[in-house]
Amino acid sequence: MSTYKRLPVTFARGEGALLWDTQDKQYLDALSGVAVCNLGHAHPAVTKAVCEQAGRLLHTSNIYGIAAQETLGDTLTALAGMDRVFFGNSGAEANEAAIKLARLYGHRRGNKSPMIVVMENSFHGRTLATLSATGNRKVQAGFEPLVQGFIRVPYGDLAALQAVADNQKDVVAVLVEPIQGEGGVNVPPPQYLPGVRALCDNKGWLMILDEIQTGMGRTGKPFAYQHYDFKPDVMTLAKALGNGVPIGACLARGDAAELFAPGNHGSTFGGNPLACAAALTVCRTLSEQKLWDTAASLGESIRQGLRNALDNVQGVIEVRGQGLMIGIALDRPCAELVARALEQGLLINVTADSVVRLLPPLVMTEQQADHLVSILSSLLREFLAGK
Ligand SMILES: *Cc1c(COP(=O)(O)O)cnc(C)c1O
Repeated sequence: MSTYKRLPVTFARGEGALLWDTQDKQYLDALSGVAVCNLGHAHPAVTKAVCEQAGRLLHTSNIYGIAAQETLGDTLTALAGMDRVFFGNSGAEANEAAIKLARLYGHRRGNKSPMIVVMENSFHGRTLATLSATGNRKVQAGFEPLVQGFIRVPYGDLAALQAVADNQKDVVAVLVEPIQGEGGVNVPPPQYLPGVRALCDNKGWLMILDEIQTGMGRTGKPFAYQHYDFKPDVMTLAKALGNGVPIGACLARGDAAELFAPGNHGSTFGGNPLACAAALTVCRTLSEQKLWDTAASLGESIRQGLRNALDNVQGVIEVRGQGLMIGIALDRPCAELVARALEQGLLINVTADSVVRLLPPLVMTEQQADHLVSILSSLLREFLAGK
């Protein structure tokens, strides 16, 4: 169905941060399939793991033990400092699990209409519950009636959250992205997330972090909350978890980890041997090579490079982000930059109308990063000069 307005290119193969189209033209990928291929394209270890697993066993069922799922569960919960994990197949599914957990948490405490606080400009997926949680009318329009049970506040605004705490007795959880991705690479003030955590502790609410875009090393730590010294109660992952093999995860800690019992939730494909073999290799490769440190340093140098190259250019509001999650906010809509960059062999994205978003693979070389800065800054100069 016509759910995508596609760009006029089809890729045939890739390697690291490079892609080749069906005409064999080469591209530099600064988007990673939207924060999915953090290890780059055709990563040898992932390819090997997927091929080996495919030759042994693709799928059995969650009715039976799945060795790769158990190993991945141990690895992922250790990396995240969480207790338990549920595996699904996508980000939306991971968030559905988190929303169900929050409701169950409320019901167990005698609350028959539990509410979850969500943010303006957030993005949590396209299923009915997750689009209802999403703070973007374009995502919701035409799909009403929306799922009930969400209260919306501005992102980064602790006072607004405090007002909800003071006035709404049915709240059981807060669902928030550590950095808003689709919303425009919005980095909250440093005291915000610790403040949300403190408020959740105070009120007995679950703090649910949607790390679907920020997770798996992208921001310079394995998970974005690890830049702070708190832990969420629930965290969702997907995108880069399988480096392109579909897998999502909902991790939980403490009481939240003990809520689901047999029969409460499930998935046919979730956590199957193939997806888990890929994700396990992603976790191990990221950890062995400390690729989050590369994300931190490469991201800083790309932001600095862009700031230098765009200094005094009229129309650039800000270069922002953390690690390899980078936004260049302009003073005007700039969707057309995507096609212009494509012509020059560069893959970028524009979100929230006027923010150029870069999500390069963590394996991008310094030389490729320099190339990215140089092509993109001249494109931006031309565009902002009205050429
Ligand atoms: C991409 C994304 C989702 C949705 O993931 P899907 O796999 O497309 O369902 C949810 N939350 C955030 C923050 C995302 O970036």
